[in-house]
Amino acid sequence: MTTTDWRLRARCRGRDSKLFMPEIAAKDKCGRARAICAACPVTDECLTAALQEERGLTYHFRATVRGGLTPRERADLDRQKGAAA
Ligand code: SF4
Repeated sequence: MTTTDWRLRARCRGRDSKLFMPEIAAKDKCGRARAICAACPVTDECLTAALQEERGLTYHFRATVRGGLTPRERADLDRQKGAAA
């Protein structure tokens, strides 16, 4: 098993990716995407990968809901983790 095999178990696989675009999902505050993430068996792996890949980026350079968090929420979490380190 490789480190990215968790993606094969992602609940968002095969779903309309527009649901995960914050600008498009703004009407429901990403609620449908968050609901899919909340039922996903690999949320922790997904969020960890997102935070590693996006480390140090502002939310403008982060795309889509990942690990149940919007780009802005991940940027805030990244800053908090950086401040704690
Ligand atoms: S946590 Fe959400 S974005 Fe990440 S793999 Fe699961 S469903 Fe997809």
